[in-house]
Parts: sequence; structure tokens; C-alpha cells
Amino acid sequence: EMKSPIVVVSNRLPFILCKDDDGELQRKPCAGGLVTAVAPVVIQCGGLWVGWPGIHMDDPHQSVPESDPGDKGPSAGLKSEQVVVVHVEEQIFDDYYNGCCNATFWPLFHSMPDRAVFVADMWEAYSTVNAMFAYKTVEALKKLKAQEEEGEERIPLVWIHDYHLMLAANHIRQQCEEENLKCNLGFFLHIPFPPWDIFRLFPWDDDVLQGILGCDMVGFHIEDYCRNFLDCCQRRLGFRVDRVHNLVDVAGRTVKVRALPIGIPYKRFEEMANAAPRALQSSQQIILGVDRLDYTKGLVNRIRSFERLLEKHPEHLEVVKLMQVAVPSRTDVKEYQQLKEQIDLEVGRINGRFSTANWSPIRYIFGCISQDELAAYYRDSSVALVTPLRDGMNLVAKEYVACQVDKPGVLILSLFAGAGETMHEALLVNPYELDGVADTLHRALTMPDDEREMRMYHLKKRERTMDVDFWLSSFLKAMGSLDFGEEQDE
Ligand code: UDP
Repeated sequence: EMKSPIVVVSNRLPFILCKDDDGELQRKPCAGGLVTAVAPVVIQCGGLWVGWPGIHMDDPHQSVPESDPGDKGPSAGLKSEQVVVVHVEEQIFDDYYNGCCNATFWPLFHSMPDRAVFVADMWEAYSTVNAMFAYKTVEALKKLKAQEEEGEERIPLVWIHDYHLMLAANHIRQQCEEENLKCNLGFFLHIPFPPWDIFRLFPWDDDVLQGILGCDMVGFHIEDYCRNFLDCCQRRLGFRVDRVHNLVDVAGRTVKVRALPIGIPYKRFEEMANAAPRALQSSQQIILGVDRLDYTKGLVNRIRSFERLLEKHPEHLEVVKLMQVAVPSRTDVKEYQQLKEQIDLEVGRINGRFSTANWSPIRYIFGCISQDELAAYYRDSSVALVTPLRDGMNLVAKEYVACQVDKPGVLILSLFAGAGETMHEALLVNPYELDGVADTLHRALTMPDDEREMRMYHLKKRERTMDVDFWLSSFLKAMGSLDFGEEQDE
């Protein structure tokens, strides 16, 4: 018996196309946890992946190359006929991606409306690009149907990802109705969904809601985001919502809303932590921060909290170190350049203030580190300081837990990260309250071994079970149960 083919629709394909020395196109695989989990399933069910290839090509009809024979990555088995490339003209793509996605939705959905810009041209580009993705998806669905054997009916599952594509579902639904194509539509948002009084600041808020409601099932990381979404559907559109079962009534249809917290490839991180050579000197206690350099991550507050620790608890001078990895991100955007300068200044100031001949308090790495190396950093740190001002989930917190294979460290986690909703045994902090974070740091650095072990034992147990594969099958189960009406509990 064949499962339904899964059609993933995401801004990026699971690989980037680039030109080799002879000008031939080549795949450069991406290896995030999401691709690692989802690509094998798409390959196995004979599904498709619709997305942008990472470059603007001169000839949009150029075919996608097969993967390199040496490629052992998760998307290597994805055949070129399973790849649907969406080409977008450069100016439109810029307004869509750097504009509407990253200068409007990113700050707004992280509840930072003062950083958001509201520009009609950007929104128009966003609508255009979403319509293009939808068109390509429907074309692909037609092809899938044409390939079907007589008497076989496999209804495809179209799975749309993230804030880049919030209008696509509605377009796909309408076109499928016109073309008499069947499919089930699902959407997952990888960032927070904001409260109604933030969301309503977006001038075209109703279109966004209608776009998402084109789906049969909508997934968010946590209950809070589901609640926010239901509030918006009710208050902006006047739709009837069922808050007990998390349902929205849309003109004769019912849309399911589910909290499906994403996990990490737990076993892979645990194995990497077991295999990696020692990375950090053990003579000092290391407090570790790992983030993309983004204003949502609370880096300036974090560095200042560490400064407060050194002021309030001078016994940590010369024995404790903050190691901060900041991955360059969106470096062509002015706001991100300014943030980098601010962090440079703060690090310099604090190092200048406290350094001695043999010790400086902050080690700051502006660059990307491989996950193998990261696993060793996680393992060898006494404390992970994960203090975003707002974060959809935060995978670093979960990876840190998976890598505690020796003497366990302590996880300090922001109340405003999605991960904070389930990781109860972490030390939860408000990143805006610098003194509170400083005191929690002191508590973590002086925590008795048995308490560290007890907390980490429970954190590990949860993340081991609720890993990225669990998330994937939960999503598919929530989608699959559409056919039978009520969701079946195992
Ligand atoms: N990461 C990495 N190299 C680095 C820093 C981070 O590979 O030098 C990875 C990290 O392992 C994690 C991801 O980047 O999987 C960050 O995910 P998270 O959810 O914490 O934040 P996001 O960047 O998605 O907002």
C-alpha cells in the first residue's frame, strides 16, 4: 500500500544550486535538522519539493542536476524530477525576502513592531511570490495526477512551511478547486505567532489570516501561538472558533490548529558529543552562548547580565568565562550591521574593564561553527545561556541538552523562547531583567552536582523522545486524521 505523496513547499529547496568551475550547475546540500528529517520521507513516498534554488539563474529553463555521487546528505536521494524550482526576478525577490519577510514579518511576529516596516510594494512582491509558488505547486500536482495508475487514488499532502509563504495555501486551494484536483493542505509556522494587538498592526492582516486558513491543518510550536492565532481569526475575521478542540470554522470548512513543538535529531547530537575531541580548557568554567547574530536573540542584554555577574559576585573573576558564538546573518541589512557594532563595543568595553594578564572574561567568535565542533562546545561548557528576547522554539537549548554526555551542565533558558514551555527543569529567566539573569548565572555556577544531574536527566529524557522524527510523525498524523474526521489517540 502506497502512502500519499508529500509535496513540501518552502522558501528554500533542501539544497542550494551553484555553478562549478565549468559553469555547470551543482547541488550544494543543506544539512539542518528539518531537511534531515523531512527529505527522506519525501524521497520514500515519491513526493516533491517546491522551492527557491538559492541563486538567480540566467536561464530559468535550465534543468536541475542530479545529486553528486559523493553526496551522502539527506537530500541526495531526491531525484531531479522531484524538485520543482521557483524562479523569481531579482528585484521582486528582494522586496519579498529582505523586505516583507525579514523587515516586516520577522520583527512583527517576534513582537518587536518598532523594528518592522510596512511598505505596500514589499507586500505586493510578497503576494506575487506566494502566487508563483502556488502556481508551481498546482502544476506539479497536475503532473502527479497524470502519472497515477488506473484505479489508484493517492491524495497528495501539500505541506507549506513558514512565514515566507503564508498566502500560498489559499491560492493552491482555489486553483485546485478550479482544476478539480484533490489535495490536503497543511502549514507549519517556525516562528512565533504574535498576540492580536501586535498582529493587527500589519495593514493587510486579514489577507494573511485568510491565506493561512486556506489549509486544512495549521501547526505552531506551542499552545500560546495557537491561542494567538485563534484570537486573531475571531477578532479580525469574526470567525467562530472552538478553543477546546482548537478549531476555526471557515465558510463550511473546519481548520484544525495544533501545537506541534519541533525537536532536534537527538541521537545525532548525542553521538557527536560522544565522538568529539576535547574542545575547551577544563581549568575554567565556561558559560556558552550560541546564536545567529539577530536582535531577537538578546545578545546585548546577555553580555550586560554577565557583566552584572562579575560586579555582584567577584569570586567568579578569573575562573569563569563567557564564550559567545554569533553566526553572521542578514549582513546586508543595516540593522544587523548596527547590532554587530554594538556587540563589538560591549565586548570590548567589558573585556577592557575586567581583563587581567592571564584572563579575559569574554571570548567572542563572530563566525559559523560546524555542528561537530559545536557538540564539543556544548559538552564541555558548565552553563548554556540561552536568553532570546523572543524565539519561536530555540534549538540550541535542545542541542545543549542532548550533548550533556559527561558531567551535566546547567541550562538557563528565556521564558520567551518556545522551548521554555516544555523544558521545565531549565532555570527559566526573564532576559530583560539583567540582575535576575546575573543571580541565576551565579546559582547555575554554584549548583550542586546532584541537582544538575536531576534536572538534566529529565530534560534529556523529554528531548530524546520528542525529537525531530517525533515532530514529523505528529504532523503527518494530525494531517492524516483529516480523512477520518476525529483524531484517533494512540
Ligand atoms: N548552528 C550552527 N553553527 C553555529 C551556530 C549555530 O550550525 O556556529 C546551528 C545550531 O546547531 C542550531 C541552529 O544553528 O541547529 C540555530 O537554531 P535555533 O532554533 O537556535 O535559532 P535560529 O537561527 O533558527 O533562529
